[in-house]
This record gives sequence, structure tokens and C-alpha cells, in this order.
Amino acid sequence: MKKILQDLSLAELTQEIISLGERKFRAAQAFSGLLSGKTVEELPAVPKALKEKLLQTYENAPLAVEKTFYSSDGTEKYLFRLADGNLIEGVLMKYKYGYTQCVSTQAGCRMGCKFCASTLNGLIRNLTPGEILSQILLVNALHKNDADLAGEGKEKRAVTNVVLMGSGEPLDNYDNVIKFLRLLTAKEGLNVSARNISLSTCGLVPKMYRLADEGIPLNLTVSLHATEDSERQKIMPVARAYKIADILKACANYFNKTGRRYYFEYTLIDGENCDEAHAEALSALLKGKPCHVNLIRLNEVKERSLKATGDKNAYRFMGVLQKNGISATLRRQIGADIGGACGQLRAAYVKEKNEREIAAKDVRD
Ligand code: SAH
Repeated sequence: MKKILQDLSLAELTQEIISLGERKFRAAQAFSGLLSGKTVEELPAVPKALKEKLLQTYENAPLAVEKTFYSSDGTEKYLFRLADGNLIEGVLMKYKYGYTQCVSTQAGCRMGCKFCASTLNGLIRNLTPGEILSQILLVNALHKNDADLAGEGKEKRAVTNVVLMGSGEPLDNYDNVIKFLRLLTAKEGLNVSARNISLSTCGLVPKMYRLADEGIPLNLTVSLHATEDSERQKIMPVARAYKIADILKACANYFNKTGRRYYFEYTLIDGENCDEAHAEALSALLKGKPCHVNLIRLNEVKERSLKATGDKNAYRFMGVLQKNGISATLRRQIGADIGGACGQLRAAYVKEKNEREIAAKDVRD
């Protein structure tokens, strides 16, 4: 695979353009074209000769939309094809205040959580900063005509909020994710405020400490899903490496360093983690902490045996937390009709495609 031009900051792109023997202003032209989601070939104003030079080293486009799925609630799910053919997915959620895009940070994942479809085949590879960024550049370009609904400043853009909750564990691809966050928040780039970015981790404690020192005060979210280490280990292998108590210390450090309250995700799995005793235990664990709990209904994954809990139980669980003074919300189920959870869309698509190809081969044979 060639290199990814969108990996470069404006300063780095300027260096690159100068080293190709071109004038500096060409870098600003190219950068602005890339920001609006153009491929190298499509870059406006950039001379053909420069495009040809760039294409010797760089991919024309880091990714393209393979397929879009539209939910009846307005949510859009994207399947993106990377330049090497790997598929990743993303989600666009439309709210009154703007659009929130969920991006993937890895193709596949090696964390092995028992409820998650992204990890079914392990980690395929890390995404580069530009591959993560380009998911947003493409979606912004597709929605440029709705941009008056949202966005700030003179360059209105559709995507105002970004969540790192697609496939992959962001802190397992640390350096690339940090570079992506710097590109995303750069004044001369998309200029997304760190306050509008959420990063979700399964709890890689040492990286949570590093993140607190990066000077990017984003919303840190930890996938907790259990109140005891022994229970957590049953559904999240990473819990063998990091204890809940150490995760809570890392969260407290994050709050002290950034002043930002932190978030927990708690996926309700029937018969596993969501009876009343669990709600009481979760309340005791988080009592008095500057945090918020997002309760998620399990999106059942075909390949896994875990079951979602009913609405009644979900509301009861939330009620116990709230009665105990814990700030909690039950996440609205979005895009459930289009393969809601992480990795489900890709898994279903790859399976369907394989079956089609096998069927076609059967016909040929
Ligand atoms: N690796 C990161 C981010 C990706 S997952 C993390 O673990 O946080 C984003 C959130 O979706 C996590 O809280 C994850 O536990 C949850 N999730 C994954 N599969 C799910 C499913 N089938 N149903 C409900 N939530 C799921």
C-alpha cells in the first residue's frame, strides 16, 4: 500500500510539497482540497504534474464508501473500503444540534470482548491517522448541502461531534489515534473542539494516564459492563490485565488533569450484569465520582449467545442508579434496523458477500 496523504498536518504537507520542488502555496491548496474530501486526482487548482508526483508515493484516496445503509430514524451506517481492500464501518447520527459521527480506529480488534462483533476475527490492522480522519472527510463531503444545519465558523461542516466507538480499541492504536486527534482539532483543519470528541476504551490503564497528559481534553469513556473483576473477566479478557479499582484511579487522574468528568458505558446483558444487586453495586462503586453512566441495550450478535435485557429491566436498573444519586441515561436505540452494534454490519456484509461468491463459484464449477 502507498502512503496516506491525509496523515500529514499542514506543516508536514508543506515540507513534502517543498521537497518535491514545488512552491509553498501549493500545500495550502492541496490541504484545503483534502479537507473537503477530494481525492488527489480531484484536488482543485493543483497542477496535474504535482498530482502525478504525489500519486507516485501516496494513495489517490485512503478509503471510499462501499455501501450506505439508511435507518428509518435517520441514522446512516457506512461501510468503507480501505485502499488495501479491508472494510471498516462508521455511523452517522443526526441530532438537532448537529451530526455525530462514530469512527473506527482499527480494522478488527484484538480485545476479544464476548459481546462484540468487531473482534470476532481478531485484529486485522491499525488504521493510520489519515484513514481515521478520512472517514469524517468523506461523510462531511456527502452532507455538504446539509451543512447549514450545523457546524460553526465560516466553514460550516455537517459533522460537529466525533465519537471513537467504531471498531477497534483506540488506545491500542495509541500514536495514530493521538495524531488523528491533533489533525481533527487543528485550527487549520476541521477545527473540532475536544469537548465534542468522545473516546471509548475498554480500560487500558497505562494509556489512560498518557492520554490525560496529551492536552486534548476530550470526553473519556470507559466500557465497564461489570462491577466486579471476576465478572468482568468473563466478558472482557482485558479485565485480567487491569482491575476495576485501577481503572477508577486512572479516571480520577483524568479528571484532575483535564477538569473533565468521565463516562462509563454499561451494556445490559440479561442474566449477567443487570439485576438489582448489580445496580446497587454499580452505585456503590461510583458514588460521589464526577462521572456519568451510559446504559446501553445489548445489540445481540448472531455469533454470540448473550441476550439483551427487556426495556422494563433496563429502566429499573437506571432507576436504581438515579435513586442512588448516580447520573445515568439509557441510550436510545439507534439504527437497530441496520445492524446497530460494532462490527455487526461488516460481519454481515462479508458473510453475505462470501456466500454470494461461493454461490457464483458453485455455478461456475
Ligand atoms: N474498544 C472501545 C470502543 C469500541 S466499542 C471500547 O471497548 O470502549 C464502543 C462501545 O460499544 C463499547 O462500550 C462496547 O463495549 C460496546 N459494544 C460493543 N458491542 C456491543 C453490542 N453488541 N451491544 C452493545 N454494546 C456493544
